[in-house]
Amino acid sequence: MAVFNLGSINIDHFYEVAHLPAPGETIAAKTYRTGLGGKGANQSVAAARAGAKVFHGGAVGAGGEWARAALGSFGVDTSNVVKLAEPSGHAVICVDPDAENSIVIVPGANRRLTGADAEAALRFAKVGDVLLLQNETSAQADAARIGREKGLFVIYSAAPFDVRAVQAVLPYIDMLVMNEVEAQQLHEALGAAELPQTVITLGARGAVWCKSGSEIAQPGFEVGPIDTTGAGDCFTGALAAAMDRGLPGTDVLRFAVAASALQVTKPGTAAAMPGLEEIQSFLN
Ligand code: ATP
Repeated sequence: MAVFNLGSINIDHFYEVAHLPAPGETIAAKTYRTGLGGKGANQSVAAARAGAKVFHGGAVGAGGEWARAALGSFGVDTSNVVKLAEPSGHAVICVDPDAENSIVIVPGANRRLTGADAEAALRFAKVGDVLLLQNETSAQADAARIGREKGLFVIYSAAPFDVRAVQAVLPYIDMLVMNEVEAQQLHEALGAAELPQTVITLGARGAVWCKSGSEIAQPGFEVGPIDTTGAGDCFTGALAAAMDRGLPGTDVLRFAVAASALQVTKPGTAAAMPGLEEIQSFLN
């Protein structure tokens, strides 16, 4: 079995600054570095590190070959990443000494994916494979519909939250994954609308899985967190990998909560995603 993901690929540009720039102010950064980012890419890396065979469909643009190669270096198949004339998706991230940040995201090529790209990215997917989607690309609803038609287990990570994006995929998805804020936003927007099974992450408190009126709760693991960036993406990628391995429900949740607890003990995002052996030995 395999995990297919139609998701964003970003180049993250990090600028370490003495303070976040005020309106009209120009400041010099103390350091500058780049890294692989985008919720889609992060979730693909998390799933691959957690033991799944992952096929990532997406788009890069000018200057984006580097990000595609970085994604491939984590063992993710990138043969369905298309190259477009748009700028590559990227994020400009200023971080101050208190770890406060301000972020500008340019979706670029990520929002130029078409239904035909989704079709091509999923052409080898088979019944029972997992499809992961998030709200940082175009063609999410096309991908969800194709996934449903092919008998894939479709997981939608409703982030960044947009109720219209959720409504567009709702007829085709098997599982919604959200954090507490997104779950609250969904509740406010849709009230008691009928939802598929839903997994809600609760930060240090773990996660809860709501399915046909019943709930499975998995408390968080006590760890020494140093950087929680990407914890949600780690959770979703590890969850997809555990579903793909056919683990039973309680074990799926425990696996994803353990993976994301390990992830917050390391700095960085993609580079902090834990491997299968690390997760298994933490759980034993
Ligand atoms: P982020 O935006 O930082 O990526 P998120 O808001 O999408 O995260 P959270 O609910 O904060 O998602 O965290 C996802 C998962 O990460 C949690 O379900 C939990 O398993 C793990 N996690 C997050 N913070 C901690 C923590 N302080 N200690 C242990 N586990 C944590």
